Amino acid sequence: MKMRKRKVKGGMLALMLAVIVLLAACSSGSNEEGSSDKGANSAKDGSIKIGFSMDTLQEERWQKDRDLFKAAAEKLGATVEVLAANSDDAKQIAQAESLISQGVDVLVVVPHNAEATAAIVEKAHEAGIKVLAYDRLIKNSDVDLYVSFDNERVGEMQAEAIVAQVPKGKYVYIGGSEADNNAHLFKKGAMNILQPYIDKGDIQIVYDQWSKDWNPAAALSNMENALTANNNEIDAVVAANDGTAGGAIQALTAQGLAGQIPVSGQDAELAAAQRIIEGTQTMTVYKPIKSLAEKAAELAIKLAKDEDPGADKTVNNGKIDVPSILLDPIAVTKDNIDATVIADGFHSKEDVYKNAN
Ligand code: BGC
Repeated sequence: MKMRKRKVKGGMLALMLAVIVLLAACSSGSNEEGSSDKGANSAKDGSIKIGFSMDTLQEERWQKDRDLFKAAAEKLGATVEVLAANSDDAKQIAQAESLISQGVDVLVVVPHNAEATAAIVEKAHEAGIKVLAYDRLIKNSDVDLYVSFDNERVGEMQAEAIVAQVPKGKYVYIGGSEADNNAHLFKKGAMNILQPYIDKGDIQIVYDQWSKDWNPAAALSNMENALTANNNEIDAVVAANDGTAGGAIQALTAQGLAGQIPVSGQDAELAAAQRIIEGTQTMTVYKPIKSLAEKAAELAIKLAKDEDPGADKTVNNGKIDVPSILLDPIAVTKDNIDATVIADGFHSKEDVYKNAN
């Protein structure tokens, strides 16, 4: 009798312990972005755990990046923990440190600040974790891989489309975030096209400013300043992405000039696609995010396994030649929007033409 009682007590204790362990495992699965599957498999079956440290989820594209990257990685049997830093450098570094201490096998980083995030690479490497720079380069660091689009080409496409409309006149350049290496590449690309026209005296850049954190409100006030300083005598606007284009077009609308002055963009955001159909934005650059997300997921897993990602290029980041993969962007105007953005299922035809008469 005594013996049986003790046995039952022991069984109860084991059961209670199991419940506690289970509860602890469940509660550690939640995080800011709500991806509650953190490490769910890795503890059990040893699958790869990826930490995805994102600058922001503000623009439409980054939500697609998050969802498509997660889906692609999970399809390959990995789990993904996503944290977004809201354009805050200290927060992005702290979040990356937390992913490192949670024992991720590889870190994928969309840097807010190209320089500040070098600290993340250093900390990850100290812990034996490799780092993939996603879409934006991390400068002056030993980052292991860079997967993006040909961003200089993006800038060229923007300027080419605007020059095709206005080969002579007063130009405004509405740049992106100065802290983002891509913003510099877009501008470099645009200048590759504009410089010969500037040298001939055909094009004059009358205003040229960055827009802090890619904020459309900063672009709006840049465009207002450009208009005021030039008595509204502006002939063309090269805007670095669709968000900043939206801000610039808002300023043009207020002066009754929207649709009369060509404006470029990038990202094929739905609002921009609609503006292209309405005629207030000239072009956007479509970057198939699914291809980027899938490539990055596949290669992040290779890095985690210490396999060669097979990069075909290198890009110098001020410290090393970073093994790189750069995908091709696609210039989009009214003429090919159906055959690109819509045919690819990036947006539905119904949505894009929603405001068309
Ligand atoms: C990306 C663009 C994006 C911008 C603002 C850049 O680094 O390449 O696609 O519009 O950041 O988020």
